[in-house]
Amino acid sequence: MKHEDFRSLGHQIIDWIADYMERGHDGPVYPSVQPGELLKALPEMAPEDAETPQALMDDFVNLILPATTHWNDPRFFAYFPCNHSGPAILGDLLSSGLGVNAMSWATSPAATELEIMMMRWLGKLIGLPWPGTIQDTASTGTLCALLAAREKAADVNSAGYAAAPRLIAYTSEQAHSSVIKAVRIAGVGDENLRMIACDRQQAMDPEALAQAMEMDRQMGRIPFFVTATVGTTSTTAVDPVPALAEVCERFGAWLHVDAALAGSAAILPEMRWLMDGVDLADSFLFNPHKWLFTNFDCSAFFCKTPLALKRALAIQPEYLKTDHDEAAENFRDWGIQLGRRFRALKLWFVLRGFGVSRLQAKIRLHLQMAQWFAGTVEAHPRLHLFGAPLLNTVCFSRDDDESTRSLMARINGSGRAFVSHTVVENRFLIRASFGQTHATMDHAHQLMGLIEELIEAA
Ligand SMILES: *Cc1c(COP(=O)(O)O)cnc(C)c1O
Repeated sequence: MKHEDFRSLGHQIIDWIADYMERGHDGPVYPSVQPGELLKALPEMAPEDAETPQALMDDFVNLILPATTHWNDPRFFAYFPCNHSGPAILGDLLSSGLGVNAMSWATSPAATELEIMMMRWLGKLIGLPWPGTIQDTASTGTLCALLAAREKAADVNSAGYAAAPRLIAYTSEQAHSSVIKAVRIAGVGDENLRMIACDRQQAMDPEALAQAMEMDRQMGRIPFFVTATVGTTSTTAVDPVPALAEVCERFGAWLHVDAALAGSAAILPEMRWLMDGVDLADSFLFNPHKWLFTNFDCSAFFCKTPLALKRALAIQPEYLKTDHDEAAENFRDWGIQLGRRFRALKLWFVLRGFGVSRLQAKIRLHLQMAQWFAGTVEAHPRLHLFGAPLLNTVCFSRDDDESTRSLMARINGSGRAFVSHTVVENRFLIRASFGQTHATMDHAHQLMGLIEELIEAA
């Protein structure tokens, strides 16, 4: 691509994104395509010769957009927010423009030092005075925490598991699947992961945790790692972190707190209770790429004792040694990947481009939308609210699973909104998650209007 073509297509693309953010798009939120449809429309081979910039943009509009699920459409209420924003997009663009690899301090001092400061900024916003690093996802952060805990409990890095005592991990029945995945990847194994029962609020029962740990200890096993969840994926339940921390302390186990979604809400003074007891844990994470207007990927991972993390993950081959390894942080030693993107740049743009008060106002609006929506569901004669929402997610149903499923299919089939589901206590529930960058209270009203219209028509 010639420099002048880059410049003109670049301007066109910024204009396109600006329109997309300002006016949305005409098509459905959830695309009406079948598996394989886009594959068939794409050539089987890369072109031999360069195509024109216009051909690239045209095919983006004609082929890619119609097969895209529009996560940042304000009518998207599925899963959880994965919100973008103008400042994040521009910061990310500059990161692409620089194209640096932030594996070590020396491979780009700015990337490392801005990341250190952005983690301090985030930590202060949520009241957590620990150092941290930016991981790609919560899944990776949880795996890193587990590896740090494992090396603290047994020297598996050098001796492998054969020489280690039997290590047992714990989490709740409502924990995210990434905990199970981490246990598998680390070689701990499903049979050494206890899924602790939850109470009626879907929060982990500390008594049940203590009993399971005691039982394992009596059998000569080592309880080494507990993942608590603040804001579960199904219903945004909050585990009792202070009580869990007390149990972990008693057994010498590492406590990791997964607040992938909910952590962003802790920047609100009235939601700071979400962080209760987290200072007693060992590691904590939340995803600015979910609900803090920072484009995917950006997961903020905090660790009380980075040395424990580095003991598990640092490795120094000759070709990576530099003169600054004593004096400076090398973030490759805090995670799994060697190569790392310069993600702090987009976070810096977001925190300065919005300012704390604007970030707080947006999240507060999302919480109000959820409260309004839940209240309306509760008052509706043909809908049932599943628990009062603590955060931005409302779970509800109709009289039975079949009519709930059918309502969800018709909401999503309409193209006018997109919701997702969960199953809790053997009940099929529709989940409506509020958190889009461009959403207003009107969008919550419109979703309820659509639901009422579909119920009337049924
Ligand atoms: C979304 C979510 C995750 C997974 O996040 P990734 O960043 O996609 O790995 C983990 N835990 C909880 C509680 C979540 O809400």
